[in-house]
Amino acid sequence: MKKIIITIDGYSSCGKSTLAKQVAKQLNYVFVDSGAMYRAVTYYFIKNNLNWELAEDVTNALGKISLAFEYNYENGTSDILLNGENVENEIREMYVNDKVSEVAVIKEIREFTVAEQQKNSVSKGIVMDGRDIGTVVFPNAELKIFLTADPEERVERRYNQLLHLGKSVDREEIKKNLEKRDYIDTHREVSPLKKADDAITLDNTDLTTTEQLEIVLGWANEKINN
Ligand code: C5P
Repeated sequence: MKKIIITIDGYSSCGKSTLAKQVAKQLNYVFVDSGAMYRAVTYYFIKNNLNWELAEDVTNALGKISLAFEYNYENGTSDILLNGENVENEIREMYVNDKVSEVAVIKEIREFTVAEQQKNSVSKGIVMDGRDIGTVVFPNAELKIFLTADPEERVERRYNQLLHLGKSVDREEIKKNLEKRDYIDTHREVSPLKKADDAITLDNTDLTTTEQLEIVLGWANEKINN
């Protein structure tokens, strides 16, 4: 059967990774969380006291960073490995949330992560979520989705997600962080977040995860069988 590339872009906390993971599972495709890559790079800079605004630190760091994913198909998880170490939990901490969009602005860092992401396209059958996947990473993807949801609903979802991970933060802090990241992501010079011309917008504010999955699988099957 024909394999395709599916991209899911959108603002922070719209449920992109949840949807991407479910679609990948149903189609038996590989799921790639590109945001986790920016988070892991951010974590590396913070842990090593490096400054992403200093060209020398960026060159040094990128020469030493290796990223990979560890998939567990049974429980549907995909954990990011930074130089072989599983940092999936650390990269969701608030101190990473707080800085990741600033790190993701740096051109050399984006070039590094985009090259890593494109390596995955050699054998199609991928679902990747992020901010620039349909516009920059895979401009020829067969199915592009731009996911959106009401801001209040997004705050609530992130709040519940963090609670579930055992991290306590207040809603106001989450709201501020989402607003800050969305602002930086849509205003940066290099590959800002925007809907690809040929992407389909899906507003999932009033949809259950099952409903949105069915919609997207319908679109995917149309492309696969065409
Ligand atoms: O998707 P997630 O919220 O984990 O992404 C964290 C941050 O990484 C985003 O706020 C954005 O600044 C950056 N990012 C990006 N391009 C991507 C994916 C994420 O700039 N493709």
